[in-house]
Amino acid sequence: NSMPIANPVRTQAIVNRYFMHAKKNLGQNFLVDIGAIKGIVAAADIQPGDQVIEIGPGIGSLTEQLLLAGAKVLAYEVDKDLPDILHNELPQTVDNQPLTDRFKLVMKDVLKANFKEDTAGFLDLNKPVKIVANLPYYITTPIIFDLINSDLKFVSLTLMMQKEVAERLVAHPKTKAYGPLTIAVQSRMKVKLAEEVKSSSFMPRPKVDSAVVVLTPLSDKYNIEDEKFFNHVVKVCFSQRRKTLSNNLKTFIKDKDKREKLITDLGFDLHVRPEELTINDFITLAKALKKLS
Ligand code: SAM
Repeated sequence: NSMPIANPVRTQAIVNRYFMHAKKNLGQNFLVDIGAIKGIVAAADIQPGDQVIEIGPGIGSLTEQLLLAGAKVLAYEVDKDLPDILHNELPQTVDNQPLTDRFKLVMKDVLKANFKEDTAGFLDLNKPVKIVANLPYYITTPIIFDLINSDLKFVSLTLMMQKEVAERLVAHPKTKAYGPLTIAVQSRMKVKLAEEVKSSSFMPRPKVDSAVVVLTPLSDKYNIEDEKFFNHVVKVCFSQRRKTLSNNLKTFIKDKDKREKLITDLGFDLHVRPEELTINDFITLAKALKKLS
């Protein structure tokens, strides 16, 4: 087939041929914009021979372009209607190799993935792996944290998500989007916005616009020590984001004078608001609070 799957006519033809309908509860919005997909492939810097784990291949719009760019793709999917479609509609040979040498489908919730077992005999996890996905939006953040926390040594995560979530991931201090999600992710990963994608690039159209974000492991890691406590502190500090840091810190220190002494000792303005603190500021703050507890 000369028409890519990521094309409104081809996608509609597939939908008709298999009497399928996009399942809302699985976050199915299929990309029909080849330009947007090429943007994802470029953002992930896919090179011949790359090992890719894809989440949610759907009817294969992105998978097809990953394969054509030279990648070997293992994909996680939960919709039982899709294996037949994928195996029929994806190109049967890629670079003179049978599809089965280049594409493996794992029918499993990605949140229950066991990367070592699932990839055995197909991908070599001692070599670099890139993760690429047009995510199901209802579980964007659980998937991101699952991947960051997994023992998989990936070189990058290239992820399409709701634009609002992307804005939070790439946010800077002193902006509205900056908050616990920003800090939880940016304290672990380098985050870059790759492209914005209009809702008209999908079938069916989602209610929101989307964006592609690339996450790569930080070369210079922060020294957070107690990650759990750190995240807790950040959450508490932002629980009333319009109030001052001092006000939010009541949870940890009841006494006003003691609270203000700590804030002054750390070199912050007494009236500083949580969104003005950098990641390093939160790290310092969490360490100081831990000493008190
Ligand atoms: N990659 C396709 C594209 O770009 O057109 C489809 C993307 S669609 C936004 C999300 C896909 O993720 C759907 O195919 C859906 O069935 C699948 N999905 C939903 N929940 C999942 C889960 N827990 N694990 C793996 N895949 C999931």
